[in-house]
Amino acid sequence: MILVLGGTGEGRLLAEALLERGHDCLLSLAGRTTAPLTAGPVRTGGFGGVEGLVDHLRTHPVEAVVDATHPFAATMTRHAFEACARTGTPLLRLARPGWEDHRLAGDWEWVDDHQAAARAAARYPGRVLLTVGRQHTPDYVPALAERQVVARVAEPVESPLPGHWRQLVARGPFRLHDELELLDDVDVLVTKNSGGGATAAKLEAAARLGLPVVMVHRPEVPAGESVVGSVEEALAWLSRPSARPSPAT
Ligand code: NAP
Repeated sequence: MILVLGGTGEGRLLAEALLERGHDCLLSLAGRTTAPLTAGPVRTGGFGGVEGLVDHLRTHPVEAVVDATHPFAATMTRHAFEACARTGTPLLRLARPGWEDHRLAGDWEWVDDHQAAARAAARYPGRVLLTVGRQHTPDYVPALAERQVVARVAEPVESPLPGHWRQLVARGPFRLHDELELLDDVDVLVTKNSGGGATAAKLEAAARLGLPVVMVHRPEVPAGESVVGSVEEALAWLSRPSARPSPAT
């Protein structure tokens, strides 16, 4: 069985492709999304840290793990790396390419984390558009509490936000026409280097409108981990004999 750690479109597509090819595959989801768009066998919820994942790998016939979690899901990625190392389970990181090479990347201000992004955003005057995810939106409250902020999130933020902030609950893909309309009303865009086409139109819109962009770098993947950027490459990796040893004991 291939264990696919999902929560992304790539994870779902990989699981579907494996099933179509007749492989036994289990898609694992954290359980944060209210209505996951998935077909095929799914397990939901955390494993219980590294120990829990080690236990899962020892008690299930997992031939290989593909970590197709979001590029910013650093904890799950680290846990998968440690648990697979301990159980001798082949592990592949599938992460879609980031936007580093985006043709419009020239004027972006790159920062290492959300705290730095909040400080950077506060230095720009005017209204702020945050597209940094539900979990990290509250990190921006201390630096931007007095500012006009639109926070676009796929699911509502759980903790309270300043009353004058506008929360916009919407899920991509987003079209350039709509992004131009949204960004026309703000002065700086703060986002993270998620990559992918579904949410890239905001970058084009920001460039067209001459808006500054504060961009958070991706967390590092563990040193030595095998990484691919597409479902096709993951399928090729899984078809290599070295990726499919006997289940770990
Ligand atoms: P995270 O900080 O790396 O993970 C936190 C904990 O959630 C993990 O330690 C693990 O719990 C559990 N978990 C995460 N992904 C899991 C999976 N695929 N299957 C089972 N348990 C999982 O991750 P996150 O940033 O909270 O993201 C949670 C999920 O949302 C991920 O699946 C990710 O792909 C998806 N997502 C994240 C973002 C983002 O920007 N971070 C964006 C879109 C989608 P245990 O320690 O108990 O095993």
